[in-house]
Amino acid sequence: MIFEKILPTERMRENMVNKIVKEFNFVKTEKIGYSVCGRSIDLMSIGNREDSVLWIGAHHGLEWITTLLIFEFFYEMCEKIKFNKNICGIDLKDKFSKRGITAVPCLNPDGVEISLNGFESVPKSKLPIKNISDRFAAQWQSNANGVDLNHNYDAGWEALHKLEEKNNIFSPQHTRYGGNSPESEPETKAVTNLCRKNNFEYALAFHSQGEEIYWDYGDRTPKNSKKFAEIFSIMSGYTISKPEGLAVGGGFKDWFIEEFGKPAFTIEVGCGENPLPIEDFNKIYSRIKNALYFCALV
Ligand SMILES: [Zn+2]
Repeated sequence: MIFEKILPTERMRENMVNKIVKEFNFVKTEKIGYSVCGRSIDLMSIGNREDSVLWIGAHHGLEWITTLLIFEFFYEMCEKIKFNKNICGIDLKDKFSKRGITAVPCLNPDGVEISLNGFESVPKSKLPIKNISDRFAAQWQSNANGVDLNHNYDAGWEALHKLEEKNNIFSPQHTRYGGNSPESEPETKAVTNLCRKNNFEYALAFHSQGEEIYWDYGDRTPKNSKKFAEIFSIMSGYTISKPEGLAVGGGFKDWFIEEFGKPAFTIEVGCGENPLPIEDFNKIYSRIKNALYFCALV
């Protein structure tokens, strides 16, 4: 593995992107936006952007292991393309002349930085909670405004907002506060703008943990989503699940399905307590790798 022991801080992510671009001249990069604290939200893509799929990591700060997962898989895939390798008889060079993968490894750069490096990584004036102890930093799920990005999408947002209040969540905090309005956060806006400008075939959002895949939301869910989830489940051993309570609505998967009527999935990688330790990475990656190839190639 290339990136298995690397904590994906802002600096290390920059190194990873540079390494990938240097080694594989067919990879394109761009910045799709900036976080609350001005950190760039980077995109890498290969293949045909007209027929591309979208993979997103680290909606949640403490789930930075998903960023690593995307970088590792993207690198491995690029290496196979560069050296003309086949997967199950599929010529990757040929495949990616027709289809593409667009990856946003880290949607929540401030949240990841807080989880890995503490509250010092965010200017004090920005933080929604004053005098918070660094011992809570590792558990930080939200962005730097204290908004949970996966509660901030315009899909059942009002109902979710009411449910948040029922659960005594009224203001910015480390988790599950959906903001003042849908798409109030620059990170959420960056993704919705990206999706509206591109015609993605489907989307995957990686989270941790639970070894689960979620596939449905409302009556716009396409029929083939369930089949996709079933194959993913067989290949990875992950369970097919249905969201409940505060996990219903407001999320990226929900919004993508409702907005475009196309498949979108939440994949909860790994098992244990968040943040999953970096020592788990090898095990997580090995277990899910074949299923990721399936996702990349169908
Ligand atoms: Zn998550």
